[in-house]
Amino acid sequence: MTHDVISGGQPIHAPDNLKQLLEDILQQAMTVNDGKVADYIPALAEVKADYCALTVATLDGNVTSVGDSNKPFSIQSISKIYGLMLAMERLGDPLWERVQMEPSGQPFNSIVQLEWEKGIPRNPMINAGAILVSDVLVSHYSASKSALLSMVRGLCGSEAVCVDSRVHESEREHGARNAALAYLMKSFNNIESDVEEVLDHYFWQCALTMNTEQLASSLAFLANRGQCPRSGKQITSHRDAQRINALMSTSGMYDQSGQFAFTVGLPAKSGVGGGIIAIVPDYGVISAWSPPLNSFGNSARGMFMIRELANRLGLSVY
Ligand code: GLU
Repeated sequence: MTHDVISGGQPIHAPDNLKQLLEDILQQAMTVNDGKVADYIPALAEVKADYCALTVATLDGNVTSVGDSNKPFSIQSISKIYGLMLAMERLGDPLWERVQMEPSGQPFNSIVQLEWEKGIPRNPMINAGAILVSDVLVSHYSASKSALLSMVRGLCGSEAVCVDSRVHESEREHGARNAALAYLMKSFNNIESDVEEVLDHYFWQCALTMNTEQLASSLAFLANRGQCPRSGKQITSHRDAQRINALMSTSGMYDQSGQFAFTVGLPAKSGVGGGIIAIVPDYGVISAWSPPLNSFGNSARGMFMIRELANRLGLSVY
């Protein structure tokens, strides 16, 4: 038996045995062994390669998970979504004079394009863009970190979300390239606050730790026209939810965003901690975690699981 949820005008056949389907996909994913755990900082290099989790949170409030879905991990670049939400709310349209909305076609931490384009990052999903967004937060909030943390806790209805101080510290110690991006933007007058303070905020948000259930629940509003399905609260306007989804579709999966759109067809964001979240408009959120990364920096098993689920349930938005 199936129950249908309408997405983009098309009914999605969500099986009653979703748990079994997720279990099957996770088992298959465990045979994918071609990735490598991020090793640019020791705190990430030490994470066990065989962790694997898959969660689906639907708008009717059901959360279905398999694998290590209760284990918190470093969300890294997935935090770029939370920062962006706050900055869009605070700054409104003038934000788009300081950061573009185009795919970069370059690695996430590339510097060359930023020089050519006079310190205006290509989009908020690459590091330069997220550092710019961090500048907006530092400049417009008296306590940018607590503003972000309390928003994320509120979104997932859990105080358990925290920051791994060891990851935060290591990010700072190994952050020379991010510092180069920030100082380059400062030289083009596109960073307003003190660069070290901006970088500290950026490294701190990369060190947020969450599990797949918290991630999926926290972002359900993106599948629900900006409204949190649990509380009924309007988190962002419908237009901003559409815009965030659009940016994820074009730039959320690093330099593999085109292939992800082609083979999966969902707005998504990944992080080098091995997490991926994918938004299924009017249906819910899929989140996956497995630390080994493919050559683009996306979780190899996470990609496999989300692609498999999207294809089996016909979830592509296109
Ligand atoms: N902390 C990482 C960096 O800034 C985040 C990278 C990512 O997850 O894409 O390089």
